[in-house]
Amino acid sequence: MGMCPVCNGLNELNDTCKHCHTILIDHGRMMDFGEKYDAYLPIEMKKLDNGIKDDQKEEQCVHLVTCPTCDEASLVLIQEW
Ligand SMILES: [Zn+2]
Ligand SMILES: [Zn+2]
Repeated sequence: MGMCPVCNGLNELNDTCKHCHTILIDHGRMMDFGEKYDAYLPIEMKKLDNGIKDDQKEEQCVHLVTCPTCDEASLVLIQEW
């Protein structure tokens, strides 16, 4: 089982917003949010969520991030070590 370097404080999450290139704010593992994230993620993100549930969740940690400028939530896949 992998270990997420971002969850473990070994790596910064430094992805940038695709709209304005602001550094995204990491809100931690999506799994920790349970159903709550569902309410405000766009539909594409829910699809993405479904797509990653099976294969990829074993090796990749899904983080919920938001852009402080656009106020837009998205998901980032962190490759686990
Ligand atoms: Zn993580
Ligand atoms: Zn932005």
